[in-house]
Amino acid sequence: MGLIQNHLLVEAKQIASPHFDERQDEADISLLVIHNISLPPNQFGGPYIEDFFQGKLNSKLHPYFETISDLRVSSHLLVKRDGQIVQFVPFNQRAWHAGISTFEGREACNDFSIGIELEGADDLPFTQEQYNQLVIITNALITAYPLLTKDRIAGHSDIAPGRKTDPGHYFQWSYYLDQIDSELL
Ligand SMILES: [Zn+2]
Repeated sequence: MGLIQNHLLVEAKQIASPHFDERQDEADISLLVIHNISLPPNQFGGPYIEDFFQGKLNSKLHPYFETISDLRVSSHLLVKRDGQIVQFVPFNQRAWHAGISTFEGREACNDFSIGIELEGADDLPFTQEQYNQLVIITNALITAYPLLTKDRIAGHSDIAPGRKTDPGHYFQWSYYLDQIDSELL
């Protein structure tokens, strides 16, 4: 499949984040985690998510930024409201998106997952462009990484219940998953 080459999504804008490290087992990519983020919260379209994941968010620009600017986090991908995709970390390396987390009894989900951030908020619908891109991305990932199967896609709130609430109740799981190829299951 040509959509992913050398662990990079070809159509994504590449912006390197310093917030990553090596996976213990580069072949162990077996979970997809869906998130949402907006900076400032509930505001869309600014450059601040990219700044944040690059470790250069200016904490003086917004009171909320002061509370997060020291965090060292990232995701593999960000899908903006208009469908533009940014990649911060190659898929074979470990992005820092999940935090303390568990999937089917296994802890530290960053070790074995790919993280996708949707620009959004828990209490607002996502855009059609975001669903369209997320479906394309997911099918490409499932094709490229055989251990990543349709039944191994989770929300951040699923792997960190009580601590995280994203992607939130507006995320249309069945609409999304119905468009994911299951032939590799
Ligand atoms: Zn999250």
